[in-house]
Amino acid sequence: MNISENLYLNFHAHKQEPADDEIVIQSLFLHDNLITPKSDKIFFTSGLHPWHANQLSVKEIEYKLTKLIETKSIIAVGEAGLDKLKGPDLETQERVFKAHIKVAEKYSLPVIVHSVKTHNEILKLKIDLNSNVPWVLHHFNGSKQQALDLIDHGFYLSLSYHIDNGNSRLSQYLGELPIDKIFLETDDFNVDIKNLYKVASKKFNIPDQELRKQLIKNLKKLINE
Ligand SMILES: [Zn+2]
Repeated sequence: MNISENLYLNFHAHKQEPADDEIVIQSLFLHDNLITPKSDKIFFTSGLHPWHANQLSVKEIEYKLTKLIETKSIIAVGEAGLDKLKGPDLETQERVFKAHIKVAEKYSLPVIVHSVKTHNEILKLKIDLNSNVPWVLHHFNGSKQQALDLIDHGFYLSLSYHIDNGNSRLSQYLGELPIDKIFLETDDFNVDIKNLYKVASKKFNIPDQELRKQLIKNLKKLINE
C-alpha cells in the first residue's frame, strides 16, 4: 500500500468521499452487500453494526466477512460492537460481535469497535477472548482513565468532533495520550477532518504535517504494511 504521508487520513467514515489531499476509510454495513471498488484514496472495512445485529446469522457473518477478506476488499473487520442505547438485546449483539472477532483473529486483521456505554464490557471481552489483534474504538469520548486502560490493553482510539468541544473531557486530556495510538475521524457527521487535525496538532503541540505523518504511520502499523 503506497500512501503519501502528506494526506489527511479520515480513519472512520461511512459515505464521505475524500478531498484531493485526504484518504478515507469507509465503514460498510455487512448486510448491505456493497461492492467495494478499488481506489488508492478510499479503503474499506465491513461489519454488522450492533444496531443491525439481528439482520444476519453468525454463519452468514462469517461467510460474508471471509469473502471480503479473501478478495482483499477490506483492510479491517467492523464496525461491530455493543450499544446499550440502540439495537437488539446485548446478548444478541455480543454473539454477533464475537463472530467478527473470530474471523479477525483467523486472518490477523484489526477490528473497528463501536461502543456506546459498554467500554467495560468491550475491554473485558478483549481480555476474555485473549484477542491479539488490535481493536480500534471509534468515536471515543470517555474518561482519561478509560482511554489509558484501553490503550494499555492494545486498543487504539479514533477520535471525532469531541476534541473540538472545549467542554468535553476528551479535549482536556487529549494532548496527554500516546500519539501512536490515536486516529481522527469524521464518522457520519458533517465535520471537517482538516479542522480536527488543526485542533489535535495544537493539543499535541506538533505541526499539522507531523501529525498527518504520524497518523499514516499508525495506520500502516495497524494493518501491518
Ligand atoms: Zn460506530
